[in-house]
Amino acid sequence: MARRILHRLLTCDGCGDNILLPLEKLAQAFASQGVRTTDKEAIAAVCNRCKHVRNYDLANSNLSHTWGPLAYLDVFSGWVFVEPLKCADTACKASLPLFAIWNPAISPEERQAYAHTWKWDGVKCQGGHPIVKPK
Ligand SMILES: [Zn+2]
Ligand SMILES: [Zn+2]
Repeated sequence: MARRILHRLLTCDGCGDNILLPLEKLAQAFASQGVRTTDKEAIAAVCNRCKHVRNYDLANSNLSHTWGPLAYLDVFSGWVFVEPLKCADTACKASLPLFAIWNPAISPEERQAYAHTWKWDGVKCQGGHPIVKPK
């Protein structure tokens, strides 16, 4: 039997496609940057259908999926923690974990090409400053 993996369920604000974040990847992302528990659980995610990069606040249950906020899925959804995004304001130490469907089998060149298709849609840090698209 396949391992069942707990996911935080969101839907894309633009096209309504599923954003299925494995909790263990979220934990990994938050642990890697030492986020305080009082912080809002702000993340950015790239929709796999419309390719828009948007902010999501995991503490906001209004963003929950029609299936509910959490569900066990039989298969790994493919969503992973890509990297922490740095705030454009250098005095601000915020970093926002970015999630995307990221195929581990593709080459670095293919990854770059995929990342170039993303549309950065006013992504902001936890402090409300703009985040610039990483090079
Ligand atoms: Zn979308
Ligand atoms: Zn900031």
